[in-house]
Amino acid sequence: MIVAVDGPAGSGKGTVTKMIEKELGFLNLDTGITYRCVALEVLRKGLKLDDERNIIEIANNIDIKINNTIDKDIVILNGENVTDKIRTKEVTAVVSQVSSIIAVREKMVQVQRNLAKGKNVIVEGRDIGTVVFPNADIKIYLDASEEVRAQRRYAENMQNGIDMTYEEVLENVKMRDYNDMHKKVGALKKAEDAIIIDSTDLTIDEVVEKIKNRIKMFKK
Ligand code: C5P
Repeated sequence: MIVAVDGPAGSGKGTVTKMIEKELGFLNLDTGITYRCVALEVLRKGLKLDDERNIIEIANNIDIKINNTIDKDIVILNGENVTDKIRTKEVTAVVSQVSSIIAVREKMVQVQRNLAKGKNVIVEGRDIGTVVFPNADIKIYLDASEEVRAQRRYAENMQNGIDMTYEEVLENVKMRDYNDMHKKVGALKKAEDAIIIDSTDLTIDEVVEKIKNRIKMFKK
């Protein structure tokens, strides 16, 4: 069974899908990890963001493994644990541009489909219900106001020791929303058959409950 959860940065996808993983025994696949790994390699190699040829080369040769643990996903990139390194503000600043390169997306979509193969998965991203799994059994589009999303990301960053002001986070959220919604391929948009959940005024538990109910209805 495949549950697709799309939505902008800070809409709650990560927290909610991790809870569903715990409660229902689904595998949670966070597809943003794959683009963050490419972005990390781009920074490490000191590539310019318009150097598409070399960025595509990175995407084509990357090896990504994700070990799902209860609280977080341990990410192994070419044999190295990069779990925290892919969440830095430097990576966050360039990832949406790196993920706009069409050949990078094509390769990452393959990687994501392989990671999900043969499992009950709840997959989160931007284009899961539209491109990666257009035949997903359930599609959710999770949204929230810009300010609430930035506030959530800011609180999460504080917990993880990422030093960004609220204003910086809000700017990054707005910039990524714009980039993500205007991609030529794999743009963030609601699939026609997706259910919209606006989490601005909902608690995490309320959002999880709504998704769980959908899954239960589907199973009947
Ligand atoms: O979900 P997360 O914020 O970690 O994703 C990082 C970036 O990766 C997003 O801003 C987006 O540009 C890109 N992304 C994407 N398609 C996905 C998942 C993430 O383009 N399915």
